[in-house]
Amino acid sequence: MPLLVMKFGGTSVADLSRIENAAKKVQQEVERGYDVIVIVSAMSGKTNEMVGWVESTSKLYDAREYDAVVSSGENVTAGLMALRLQEMGVPARSWQGWQVPINTTSVHGSARFIDIPRANIEAKFAEGFKVAVVAGFQGVSAEGRITTLGRGGSDTTAVAFAAAFGAERCDIYTDVDGVYTTDPRICRKARKMEKIAFEEMLELASLGAKVLQTRSVELAMRYKVRLRVLSSFEDTDETSGTLVCDEDEIMESKVVSGVAYSRDEAKMTLLKVEDRPGVAAAIFGSLADAGVNVDMIVQNISEQDDPSDKRAHTDMTFSLPTNQVDRAKQAIDEATAAGKFVYSSLVTDTDVAKVSVVGIGMRSQVGVAAKMFAALAAENVNIKVITTSEIKISVLIDRKYMELAVQALHDTFELDQA
Ligand code: ASP
Ligand code: MG
Repeated sequence: MPLLVMKFGGTSVADLSRIENAAKKVQQEVERGYDVIVIVSAMSGKTNEMVGWVESTSKLYDAREYDAVVSSGENVTAGLMALRLQEMGVPARSWQGWQVPINTTSVHGSARFIDIPRANIEAKFAEGFKVAVVAGFQGVSAEGRITTLGRGGSDTTAVAFAAAFGAERCDIYTDVDGVYTTDPRICRKARKMEKIAFEEMLELASLGAKVLQTRSVELAMRYKVRLRVLSSFEDTDETSGTLVCDEDEIMESKVVSGVAYSRDEAKMTLLKVEDRPGVAAAIFGSLADAGVNVDMIVQNISEQDDPSDKRAHTDMTFSLPTNQVDRAKQAIDEATAAGKFVYSSLVTDTDVAKVSVVGIGMRSQVGVAAKMFAALAAENVNIKVITTSEIKISVLIDRKYMELAVQALHDTFELDQA
């Protein structure tokens, strides 16, 4: 039997009628001749509510109990989905992570897959079940404790099952009808893409386009799982939504295929850091130890304003999420107090945003950066930090110009045209 994985996000199973609506989509695929593994999220809002309960009960909570609590939302939707399918005459049963078993590491709150043995579920398909409804986001550790995969983890569960079972495709049903060239809320001309390459989706996901959990895209790329993002609120067929696939499947790709942004960025600059081997390791090691998520890093040569001072100095600028600024300051204070490095002053700017253009076509095309910078210049947007990778160029700019920048770049690279 050909097999499909269908994943329904929180808004797609938010109440009983939406579960019924999702179940109808599953039934359609069964009628087309598929065995189906359905992965469900918790009803929207439920996981947040439970995280709140845990945090209100225990400030320094035991992560094993956190997982025991917050994984439960998916158990509810898995059981309800199986019941609804049974009511519709579709042979289905639910599976919690430990029953499959979905074996993971013991890193509670952000566990990783070890393996997903197929035997139990396959035995049930062989008995005549058509659908296995699996609770997303959860697994079981070698110690026999329930684990969770990190927020948004059901996407990753879905891809992992598609890889483990060799599914024909992994359909991710959500509340948007696909992946757009940029956020339609800030750019009216945003266009839904028919296809996008794994690498591009990975960049867009990690740059703040919140359609898919980044890890799920990494996994899909590694195992070449064709992913489709589509709406559970519309009538859909094989051609709906956006296909995330290998670049070989995309005939003609544009130089730039999407514009991403992230609003909550901050920039910190350590001025006049003593320039010697090991200083960057000391700074970024201390920040990493404190759990600070550093993104862009720029090191400058700074002027030697005192000629009698023989030591060289440099300025070190980096970006980080706004809500980690205090933690970063504390880590820097502690590291300097411990004599790990010295600097003259610290400048913090919490009103910045990051805007990026992404496209695999950039690998073979010159002048993309120049075109991007010219477009920003034409709008009088000042660039504060620039970083590039093979298929992406990111700039840090004042947050108040973020939407303007996204729109200008979308126009410049003609992303509204297919
Ligand atoms: N329910 C989990 C969360 O809200 C997992 C998911 O929905 O993907 O993060
Ligand atoms: Mg999600």
